[in-house]
Amino acid sequence: MSNSPWLSLSDAIATMLSQTQPVSVSEKADVKAAVGRVLAIPVVASINVPPCNNSAMDGYALKSSDGKAGNTLEVVGAVFAGDSQSPTVLPGQCVRIMTGAPIPTDCDAVIIQENVSREDDTITLQTDTAPLANIRETGSDIARGDQLFDAGHRLTATDTMLLSSLGLASVDVYRQLTIGLLATGDELVEAGNPLATGQIYESNRTGVAALLQNWQVHINNFGIVADEPETLKQVLQEAQQTCDVIISSGGVSVGDADFVKPVLDELGEIGFWKVAIKPGKPFAFGRLGNAVFCGLPGNPVSACVTTEQLVVPVIRHLQGETGLGNGHRLTLKAQITRDIKRRAGRLDFQRAVFSQNADGTLIVTPLAKQSSGVMTSFSKANCYMLIPAEADGLNTGDWVEIQPFSIAGKLG
Ligand code: AMP
Ligand code: MG
Repeated sequence: MSNSPWLSLSDAIATMLSQTQPVSVSEKADVKAAVGRVLAIPVVASINVPPCNNSAMDGYALKSSDGKAGNTLEVVGAVFAGDSQSPTVLPGQCVRIMTGAPIPTDCDAVIIQENVSREDDTITLQTDTAPLANIRETGSDIARGDQLFDAGHRLTATDTMLLSSLGLASVDVYRQLTIGLLATGDELVEAGNPLATGQIYESNRTGVAALLQNWQVHINNFGIVADEPETLKQVLQEAQQTCDVIISSGGVSVGDADFVKPVLDELGEIGFWKVAIKPGKPFAFGRLGNAVFCGLPGNPVSACVTTEQLVVPVIRHLQGETGLGNGHRLTLKAQITRDIKRRAGRLDFQRAVFSQNADGTLIVTPLAKQSSGVMTSFSKANCYMLIPAEADGLNTGDWVEIQPFSIAGKLG
């Protein structure tokens, strides 16, 4: 793999996707646990939903030919959700019906209970009732034979609900990926242990693993690896036996690469890239045996940005998800609330806070501390604010792209 001097983010993603093959092995997954999994074969509806005409409201089922305001009808029975018998309903008659109950075969409309006055066993209609009023028709949500999802579709929570409504207990999804995580650095200490002079707590594996939790992967943690070629070699050789993707952090910048690079060169085919994004310029990508290797920069903020912007697209591709293109992240436009001066050259992912004005306009304010070692800015932020590579600054009121961290997460 080539060591090109500078790569744009989109070229980097395109290169990675073109050099990696999605998994082909599929398995059955319980629909209840299938959220986030990628379908291996399309889902075609084998039944109609709803399976029969049923009432959308509590009220009275009648013949629409009787549905004139002022008509008085005799109530001859009641149908509840789950009933299988269909009462006979003659002209001038109706039946009490509950939401979800099957429409009697003699009826073709439902009048809601609020629109009738009831006295003993009769009702008087206060409104006209048209054919099919308040009826959920057979197959109106899903018709038998409809192709609901293509292969390569990642299931959402509501998709799994829809699959359950079809009576499916399991679906065919691509197998889960195993991701190996390791952190390199002599200075790194596992949380829970005392810190000696010169040491820092290791945090990248925690952040990266948490970011990957959204993507239904299996994480295999290989711990902290000393800055020592033989140890690194051993760990990588072990990881490549069992992992689809190996993600390491640290040691890919120019100084550190001295010891990581020869090891990786010996074991596999790795390119050391300078991706034109900030933070997160040094990034290693390639192959160790059958595993895909991603080498993140060590700075925690850079490690998170490269995970989200570079590694996640590769993982999604490997998982068999289709239609990714380069637009794998939701991007919105917001107006910046202050001026920014900076040096042009790299696509900047600033940590920022966005919110919505009373008139609905999105506004965004980048946090003051943008150093790639400052984790607190990430915690204060609720989005990335993107500054295009060519821009040497932004003026208050300029429209910029933002990527919310999470729809469900805190809003500014
Ligand atoms: P490196 O990429 O190895 O040169 O590391 C860059 C900076 O990130 C250094 O200050 C490291 O101490 C720090 N660093 C590297 N790996 C980690 C990690 N796993 N957790 C926290 N900080 C790290
Ligand atoms: Mg290091």
